[in-house]
Amino acid sequence: MKIGVLALQGDFAEHRAVLQHLGVEAPEIRLPGQLDELDGLIIPGGESTTMGKLATMFELIKPLRKFGRSKAIWGTCAGAIFLSKDAQREQPLLGLMNITVARNAFGRQSDSFETELVVSELQEPARPFRAVFIRAPVIASVGKNVQVLAKLEQDDEGQEGQIVAARQGRLLATSFHPELTNDPRFHQFFLSLVEGE
Ligand code: GLN
Repeated sequence: MKIGVLALQGDFAEHRAVLQHLGVEAPEIRLPGQLDELDGLIIPGGESTTMGKLATMFELIKPLRKFGRSKAIWGTCAGAIFLSKDAQREQPLLGLMNITVARNAFGRQSDSFETELVVSELQEPARPFRAVFIRAPVIASVGKNVQVLAKLEQDDEGQEGQIVAARQGRLLATSFHPELTNDPRFHQFFLSLVEGE
């Protein structure tokens, strides 16, 4: 299996390290032609506006859209924003996933934080997943054919927690960074989408 990691910008090296640890070939992707040989693609965290501009310059927007219509793509954080249909502002997006995201949703004082998520689709679902959020977006709403995979806990007033992971067929979006903790279960889950259940 070959999973490319979009390497225009952001923390692509960390994703490659997890994939390689799982025994998966993980080339860095910068050119449209490199998509042809892949089974799936990860779009890392970084800065989504910059990533979108670079993808436009490298003429990757159309090839990435085409790729995502038949193959698996996982976007983490900025990558999830780039995958979305709507980021509530003007910036280049792939528009593949039927989700609306709210960028930098956690305000200044808590720009970065960690929390535990219970994700029933992962292996060993009873063991919480430690999730690292860095100037993270939330998934403000999901549209047709999108399955919510993880939410933050309810707040003290019982207000429903925000959506931080979702799936639409073989497309996966997470607000947080599973490549930064030593828990490969999200990567394994993505590999199961690549293989197609
Ligand atoms: N704040 C960034 C953005 O809006 C995302 C941050 C990240 O990828 N860690 O693009």
